[in-house]
Amino acid sequence: MVMEMCLPQEVAAAHAVSPGILTIDFAALQANYRHLCQRAAPSSVGAVVKADAYGLGASLLAPLLYEAGCRHFFVAQLEEALALGPALPAYVRRFVLNGLFAGTEATCADAGIVPVLNSLEQVSNWAALAAARGERLPAVLQIDTGMARLGLSDAELNRLSASPETLEGIRLLYVMSHLACADDPENAHNIYQLRRMQEISRLFPGVPVSFANSGAIFLGGAFAADLARPGIALYGGAPHVGEVNPMRPVVRLDVRVVQIRDVPAGCSISYGGTHITERPARLATIAAGYADGLPRSLSNRGAAYFGQTRLPIVGRVSMDTTIIDISALDRDTLEAGKLVEVIGPNQSLDDLASDADTIPYEILTRLGRRYQRTYPHSCALDPASASAC
Ligand SMILES: *Cc1c(COP(=O)(O)O)cnc(C)c1O
Repeated sequence: MVMEMCLPQEVAAAHAVSPGILTIDFAALQANYRHLCQRAAPSSVGAVVKADAYGLGASLLAPLLYEAGCRHFFVAQLEEALALGPALPAYVRRFVLNGLFAGTEATCADAGIVPVLNSLEQVSNWAALAAARGERLPAVLQIDTGMARLGLSDAELNRLSASPETLEGIRLLYVMSHLACADDPENAHNIYQLRRMQEISRLFPGVPVSFANSGAIFLGGAFAADLARPGIALYGGAPHVGEVNPMRPVVRLDVRVVQIRDVPAGCSISYGGTHITERPARLATIAAGYADGLPRSLSNRGAAYFGQTRLPIVGRVSMDTTIIDISALDRDTLEAGKLVEVIGPNQSLDDLASDADTIPYEILTRLGRRYQRTYPHSCALDPASASAC
């Protein structure tokens, strides 16, 4: 069956047991990958699929990105890279951004996974394994250019330059660094980090550079370097905060109404009674709370939508439920079991994040496990039925 996008009420009937429906649009994901490739050209573009592809399902999405042309996949941890193995052809590169804990080098090498080496200690452990095996082992070397998070410091880089034999046995695929402020094109720190990266790359002649995340791809020219590493933009988040988002939305979230009630003026709502009704109101309790990834910071701030009608969240978000004021709707519009939009055409992922005083990354990675997940273009996964799409 081919399921059309955005038919939540019909879909609702099919999944009546779930508290909400998380729709992940495969075609939009692939379109976003291709769009990023155009923007970054002639650079190559990988995909960051750490934290289970920002909560959306790495084993599911990585093959779609592969199909769209991606050959470089980045995760944060070795465990994630191992889990991703069966989803991708063996020749496709899997990189571990956080590097390796001492003692895990052999596991990494055996699986054909490429570590990002973030310290001299990691470099020498990887080189030691290469020497023991009499092989050259591939790696990425990360240099910190202004974030103080991961990668060699200036002092470590000087030590490495003074004794280049430390890298013996290591085949450097890329030198990389990460930008701290790429979501803000006006920030002068971007140019500072780019210049620093350009100086550093001269120390590694012939070694390609990986530099850009999503935001940096949209900073233009030199930022894309040889291999970009976008994450959030693939999943529909805005590369630059507060600007028009050029990416297609990938995620839609609709949550079911559990109960509706009428309350008088002066009614105290939810934990702590932080909202008192000023006039009689009609309220709906919906089946998602902070355990499902609706941040508690949305209390008395965010909203859900029904059609284009904004339905403000009233009172505190609780673990499994949130209360919205539906007084703006005609009386019989909503009933228990129907769906309201939390992320969708009327309220983007970025809007929801901004209301919650957070970033789309945090919203996505916390979306709970209790939603029914649907894939409107899932027939694309099965080449045999692809013509039906
Ligand atoms: C998470 C991460 C990325 C992806 O960043 P986005 O802003 O999601 O595009 C790229 N590189 C590194 C080192 C990261 O940690």
